[in-house]
Amino acid sequence: MCLSLSCNHAVHNPIACIVPPYMLRVLAMRGDPATARMARSLLDHDRELRDLRAAQSSPPLPHDGILPIADPDLCCPDRRIHDGEFRATLPGKLVRAEGDDPAGLTDADFAYDAAGQVFSLFAEEYGRNSLDGQGMPLVATVRHRRDYNNAFWNGEQMAYGTGDGKIFQTFLELSVVAHEMTHGVIQHSGGLIYENQSGALNESVADVFGALALQRARRQMPHEADWLIGRGILGPNIAGAALRSMKAPGTAYSDDLLGQDPQPWHMDGFISTTDDNGGVHVNSGIPNHAFYLFASYLGGPAWELPGRIWYHALQNLNNPMASFSQWAERTLRSADELTGSGSYQGQMLRRAWKLVGVAV
Ligand SMILES: [Zn+2]
Repeated sequence: MCLSLSCNHAVHNPIACIVPPYMLRVLAMRGDPATARMARSLLDHDRELRDLRAAQSSPPLPHDGILPIADPDLCCPDRRIHDGEFRATLPGKLVRAEGDDPAGLTDADFAYDAAGQVFSLFAEEYGRNSLDGQGMPLVATVRHRRDYNNAFWNGEQMAYGTGDGKIFQTFLELSVVAHEMTHGVIQHSGGLIYENQSGALNESVADVFGALALQRARRQMPHEADWLIGRGILGPNIAGAALRSMKAPGTAYSDDLLGQDPQPWHMDGFISTTDDNGGVHVNSGIPNHAFYLFASYLGGPAWELPGRIWYHALQNLNNPMASFSQWAERTLRSADELTGSGSYQGQMLRRAWKLVGVAV
């Protein structure tokens, strides 16, 4: 099982599960027989999804985040939330379409509201009409499979398990929803290849907008936010706060069963591995921390200028294989373009990249 998964690094289709394979592999090794079985079946499913999904990327949109555009279509998401009824079939039964009253199913109503928050972040702050920039419907399935310990974007829609109640108790948390949906945005803009450094950037950009959706919904300033991805989704007996921490990568959990959060925050801790598509969920801690530092230096709402710079950089990247350094250079150019050459904001951004050891 582990062997077959470690061979999987050659497949670089951008499937985007929230729970990384290294966490599942620890569970397969340390869990009781039922937990180990669950982890192995998730690893199998992860591989099927990767095989299923073709790498897709589209050219950047004309909207590039410099200014939100007064486009009347930007008012209106087209949400379609389905109940998977604990089966594997997607999308399942439509339970709440755009404008419908609450479905009375907690997960479905949460997914509806969260998709609305994410649509609004991209539309109102960055002038983007849905994930593809062309108003694509926001399709999601809740209660996907029974006791399913994962959530994913499969190239066309989001799907959320309920968790088994022990290791995970839910996946319906706004930063997780926004993370998954941002994989859809990246797929249509820039298309960072899901492998090695560009794959870690793909993961990091998904975490950045995941955190920003949550902070914006709560109107939190950088110093007030927890910068956690997936707060509260771990089971009640798991020793951990979340899946990842952008403020302090490597500290999100430390648990007998799950092991230790392996994320580095500095290039000195960069992990070279063939696992996890070349460590995409691990090394994303480095650009995550750079974003956190930058937003903290500026102090204002992180979804405004810092988010706009990241969005502008993604739209104008034109390099799906970008390394950390190339991405950092692109964000610095975006800062120049949005705030003027030699600006204070640009200097703070350079400082943030230097602090995490990325050469710029
Ligand atoms: Zn992801």
